[in-house]
Amino acid sequence: MAVNNRDRPHPPGSPRARGTAPLPDARRGRAAVTGARGAHAPRDPALRVDPIGCQAHGLCAELLPGYVTLDEWGYPIVPAGPVPPQLRAAARAAVRECPTLALRLATE
Ligand code: SF4
Repeated sequence: MAVNNRDRPHPPGSPRARGTAPLPDARRGRAAVTGARGAHAPRDPALRVDPIGCQAHGLCAELLPGYVTLDEWGYPIVPAGPVPPQLRAAARAAVRECPTLALRLATE
């Protein structure tokens, strides 16, 4: 038989018994926040290239000029950090258009 702890009284002197215990964030109607961005905020996506799958077509460099560059063999060199917001649409298009599906947007 399951025990329902909700109906049990709180120990005398406890914050719950005094009515001073803070409610969990979920019961206050807002997300838990840790730091400036929030605990569950997704990270900004970064471009990643699968070096095995990439066949050096160079299409990603054409779609993201100045952001993706090509090395001497035609393989893309992508910046490590998050894609700037103004380039995200082009980055998504490059991911869609990559003929070998070697390009992706990653949040980790
Ligand atoms: S478009 Fe795809 S296959 Fe072509 S260079 Fe870029 S990542 Fe590699």
